[in-house]
Amino acid sequence: MRPWSDAFGRTIRALRVSVTDRCNVRCLYCMPAEPRWLDRKDLLSYEELARLVRVAVRHGVRKVRITGGEPLLRQDLPAFVRMLKPLPGLEDLALTTNAVALAEQAGPLREAGLDRITVSLDTLDTARYERITRRRALPEVLQGLSAAEQAGFRPLKVNAVVVRGFNEDEVVSLAEWARASGRMMRFIEFMPLEGDPLWSRERVVPAAEILERLAGRFPFVPAPAQSGCTSQAFDYADGRGGFAVVAAVSRAFCGSCDRLRITADGGLRTCLFGDKAADLRALLRNGADDRALAEAMGEAVSRKASGHRIHFPGFKRPDCAMHSIGG
Ligand code: SAM
Ligand code: SF4
Repeated sequence: MRPWSDAFGRTIRALRVSVTDRCNVRCLYCMPAEPRWLDRKDLLSYEELARLVRVAVRHGVRKVRITGGEPLLRQDLPAFVRMLKPLPGLEDLALTTNAVALAEQAGPLREAGLDRITVSLDTLDTARYERITRRRALPEVLQGLSAAEQAGFRPLKVNAVVVRGFNEDEVVSLAEWARASGRMMRFIEFMPLEGDPLWSRERVVPAAEILERLAGRFPFVPAPAQSGCTSQAFDYADGRGGFAVVAAVSRAFCGSCDRLRITADGGLRTCLFGDKAADLRALLRNGADDRALAEAMGEAVSRKASGHRIHFPGFKRPDCAMHSIGG
């Protein structure tokens, strides 16, 4: 079947599927202190989500990432992995998690067929972890990382959102820690998707500044670019690993964005900063067949915006936070 393409010639290859909007921590950059969760009856079942993924894979999606909210909070996540893994044409099945509950789930996820895990961790300091996430869970996260590696998820990627006034001075120590442990840091610019007001242009630590901080400590060279990749990767000059920056704000990668997102309640989103592009839950629960689902998704793709407009005057912040979209 023909892959989905948009009006700007971008072909959709990657899908992020959110299995819940709930979380066991409350990162300041992702959700308000007191979020309002979706009603459980509005969440799609694993069967419903897997059907949407199957339709997407038939139309050219090759990479699927399970996300949330915190995906490990959804009961029996390995069962969902087992549904997706055998889909013909699916080349990469990954998970993004805060790792708080990873220690007990890493083994079963590996056995179910999960290919890769990315862990989110913005600081190695206990007090800071609590300030950023509004919860105490750093020891559990570190145990989760080790358990994932023991289960065979190597090399782990570690995402850190860099927020001025919170952790920009830790960029070098995070990179050192990751280098020493064979992990790959990905430093992400702070986007205006946080719920309680915190974002401002001053709070964004641009990728250029992150690179400058690192260059003072480790020499590095650009790594070969990968197609559809939203990050810029770098290799350390001594050959001992690398790191990446995601310049989502200062150097938007919208021109090569090949992503779709499905929210936990079945909303299709073609851009992080756009409105819901289709209500797939309504279609699913009104008896739509796979063809009708594919048509709705393909039509939404054809309307995918050229890019976010954070730098344009009159940029309107979305009225939803990252946890409810699926980062
Ligand atoms: N709970 C999981 C986790 O934290 O890994 C998965 C969901 S979380 C929404 C996915 C990713 O989005 C995380 O790496 C997180 O750091 C990132 N993120 C959340 N809010 C963000 C923001 N305002 N700007 C940039 N990245 C953000
Ligand atoms: Fe939870 Fe992930 Fe959002 Fe942090 S970034 S609040 S861990 S969903």
